[in-house]
Amino acid sequence: MSWEAMQEEQPTVMSLLERSMNKDRVAHAYIFEGKAGAGKRETALLMAQRFFCVEKSGSVPCGECRECRRITHGNHSEVMFLQPEGASIKKAQVEMLQKEFTYKGMEARLKIYIIEDADRMTASAANSLLKFLEEPESPTLAILLTENAHFLLDTIQSRAQKIAFSPPSVERRRRLFQEREGTGEIAAGLLAKLAHVPGRENDAAQAEWIVQGRNLVIQLTEEVHQRLHSALLTLQDKWLVHFSDREELDIGLDMLLFWYRDLLSIIYGSDDITYFDQKATLERVALRFSEMEVVARLQAILEAKRRLRANANAQLLMEQLLIQLQEGS
Ligand SMILES: [Zn+2]
Repeated sequence: MSWEAMQEEQPTVMSLLERSMNKDRVAHAYIFEGKAGAGKRETALLMAQRFFCVEKSGSVPCGECRECRRITHGNHSEVMFLQPEGASIKKAQVEMLQKEFTYKGMEARLKIYIIEDADRMTASAANSLLKFLEEPESPTLAILLTENAHFLLDTIQSRAQKIAFSPPSVERRRRLFQEREGTGEIAAGLLAKLAHVPGRENDAAQAEWIVQGRNLVIQLTEEVHQRLHSALLTLQDKWLVHFSDREELDIGLDMLLFWYRDLLSIIYGSDDITYFDQKATLERVALRFSEMEVVARLQAILEAKRRLRANANAQLLMEQLLIQLQEGS
């Protein structure tokens, strides 16, 4: 990702880093804290490129020169990565890295550590790192990436500057999902909007599960407005089989919510539609509903989600919801 693209994605973070780099006031250690997909690793790479790029335009790294490409591909001699081996980052790993840096450290060039999942450092690994940061043989910058900085040792937290990344935008999440194996446009669009979807055997299976769930939403919404009896059968035979526990059912309800939100978008004349390939159907259904009638159905789904969290019986809850969706009360 380019510097400019990351600036669009994380404007606060990037202008903060830019200011400190322009003023030569870079800390010795940073904690990049943020959700997966927020761009922590990319930002660390961009920061490293900014130090080593030989073709900078102004202060923006080119991303193309030999130095930049080496950093991107993880084989730059001054930029080292550390990630968990098994469940944790161990002291031996930190020591290996230090040895390597000391060995190469003949010239006083800046050395950069990028530590992924830094909260998984063992206490002895973290202490070993701290010691090294406090007595560097040559200028050193450590960038610790984590989803939750609270899990880092206090001594590390107090010695590093913490930078909070915003959660990734839906559009960025959609792009990241679409790069995955077997994940098409439809699945990526839904995965990006859903808060959390439990993993399957692999990415393709997860995408397939989402697409099948989506097809059930389409079937159920068609039946519920025409023949409730069929909808109740679909609920029994397919819906409750596909969304087989509370977590999955909550996702099913979210996808149902998206469908009725689409209906509202159509009524408002907005193009922001999740079920974009269902536009003709949505437009047809929208003719029969007032804005308030759609809002009542959205509220019924939200109420069902609330009751699900309060441990209500899943089948009963869904049956009542279908009746509300049919009647709109
Ligand atoms: Zn460059």
